[in-house]
Amino acid sequence: MAPPIPRLGLISALHQEQAGLIDSMAQPQTVNRAMRDYVSGHLWGIDTVCVLSRIGKTAAAATAATLIERFGVTHIVFTGVAGSVDPGVGVGDIVIADALVQHDMNASPLFPRFEVPLLGQALFSSDRHLSDWLFEAAGRFVAEDVDKMVAEADRELFRLNRPQVHRGLIGSGDEFVHGPQRRGELRQAFPQLLAVEMEGAAVAQVCFEFGVPFAVIRTISDGADESAPGDFMRFIERVASRYSFGVVRRLCGLG
Ligand code: SAH
Repeated sequence: MAPPIPRLGLISALHQEQAGLIDSMAQPQTVNRAMRDYVSGHLWGIDTVCVLSRIGKTAAAATAATLIERFGVTHIVFTGVAGSVDPGVGVGDIVIADALVQHDMNASPLFPRFEVPLLGQALFSSDRHLSDWLFEAAGRFVAEDVDKMVAEADRELFRLNRPQVHRGLIGSGDEFVHGPQRRGELRQAFPQLLAVEMEGAAVAQVCFEFGVPFAVIRTISDGADESAPGDFMRFIERVASRYSFGVVRRLCGLG
């Protein structure tokens, strides 16, 4: 059964992550606004607006606000990739955010470090129901679909071996984390941090301010270390794009 979502806003950061989803839309209609294409249509029965935010917190925040104000979405899901900062979270695993933090926010000493000024909080919780549905969809995807949807050669190349689905804290910043020092600093600042990316916590803040339920799901593409830039684009094309497609299809109630 598909969850009761009157109008879903589905944001991705990279083109490859969104390919396939738009192809699966019934009667897609595109509206260009502020340098982005908002594609509306039915995705496996759910009224959905797909959009590429592009990369970074400002891009993601502007996109989320436009989805809400102009396209009237009632829920937002962000699908994308992230770097792992937790040794228990490997490439090919999935992380669903319980909460998000802007790890580069620092207005101290005026406000506590990481707190978003005037909101009085650093952590933004995702919507419990939507995240539960995503967790279930992701679990079914890794159990039943991943071997069919990702080629064996790519599963071997990226050592995808029984991917796991985790839930926890995701950190976002305008920074591609790719070295042991920065990774270590982040782990020290947030011992419970599972993954880092560049958009989720910005969407979280906008959704909090508008009172719109949201969830963030990320496929781990790298270990936020020296090798992070390596096979990044190949991973996005061959693996992460299949994950986004497969999990959203499960979320919408197929299979
Ligand atoms: N090489 C890409 C740029 C990718 S930027 C290009 O040329 O288009 C990284 C994207 O993946 C961002 O959208 C971010 O959310 C996510 N991401 C993956 N690994 C990350 C990491 N280690 N640190 C920060 N963001 C990461």
